[in-house]
Amino acid sequence: MEITFRKADRLKDHPDESSLSFGTRFTDYMFIMDYESEKGWHSPRIEPYGPMLMEPSTMVLHYGQAIFEGLKAYRSASGAIQLFRPKENLKRLNRSAERLCMPALDEDFVLKAMVELLKIEKGWVPEAPGTSLYIRPAIIATDPYIGLRASHTYRFFIILSPVGAYYPEGFNPVKIWVTSHYVRAVRGGVGEAKTAGNYAASLYATELAHKEGYTQVMWLDGVELKYVEEVGAMNIFFMIGNELVTPMLNGSILSGVTRDSVIRLAESWGTKVTQRRISIDEIYAAHDQGELKEVFGSGTAAAISPVGHIKYDGREIIIGNGGVGPFAARFFKELMDIQYGRTADPFGWVMPLE
Ligand SMILES: *Cc1c(COP(=O)(O)O)cnc(C)c1O
Repeated sequence: MEITFRKADRLKDHPDESSLSFGTRFTDYMFIMDYESEKGWHSPRIEPYGPMLMEPSTMVLHYGQAIFEGLKAYRSASGAIQLFRPKENLKRLNRSAERLCMPALDEDFVLKAMVELLKIEKGWVPEAPGTSLYIRPAIIATDPYIGLRASHTYRFFIILSPVGAYYPEGFNPVKIWVTSHYVRAVRGGVGEAKTAGNYAASLYATELAHKEGYTQVMWLDGVELKYVEEVGAMNIFFMIGNELVTPMLNGSILSGVTRDSVIRLAESWGTKVTQRRISIDEIYAAHDQGELKEVFGSGTAAAISPVGHIKYDGREIIIGNGGVGPFAARFFKELMDIQYGRTADPFGWVMPLE
């Protein structure tokens, strides 16, 4: 398929790199492609970023048949631009698509389209330390139809947003609040898909956490409200004694690319990593025995997010001394060094733009 290009009449001014926030500015162009049952995916095109016309009856607006991905393009010291494990994101997009009854994409073609868009927009990849260009691919259901069934038509798009360093004031731990009432995902549900409704479902408890003075929610399993699943929209790790423990993928946990990278890095350092069920009671018991050394989240946006405080069932515990532990710091540095091309990449994770 040939990707067509429509030129913008004029290009935008670029934001000041020292004050970039997350997800508020978008670049000049986007990639779009449509699906119809008879034609398959068709009309791939790069056109100026802008509003998309849709009828109020468009299915995605009512039934939430929407999925997305999130990855970043990083600028190295030499000025080169690189992606981090982009094929993993496209594989996951197709897994989400299957779960949401959406048609699969040709991963090689989509990667090619993403690279073509990035080549046009490479001037938008910021160069200040810790900044990057966030890449947001998404698929939405586009039938104008009121009634519950899978849509027959879809739109796939990729938009780009220059984002600032996640920790402009330094790498600081967050405070997390464990809810034993609300859940993010349930057994047999859509927790392992990156689908819109999961995030809508997480808002209420997150607001409660904010009111209590906490940054993020730690989610327990939706069946027994006992086992830890994720924190915010990140995967979670616990350093207990000398062992790194993370909840095993059980269908309601999102399989993070950063999660997998942390596991593989830890193993390459000779650290024991265990993926298993881990209860919140076990976390508190490990803390009481002085064995809970570190807790941190992992995800594309922040890479690593150290946890300083946890509150559950009326009792707050402080992890370590509330500061950043040595493992969190090492994972953060190593991931960033690979992503920004400051160190060798023995895993083959980095894909240069050209
Ligand atoms: C995207 C996401 C993650 C992190 O995945 P990465 O591939 O590491 O960015 C974790 N949990 C949830 C719920 C997510 O949506």
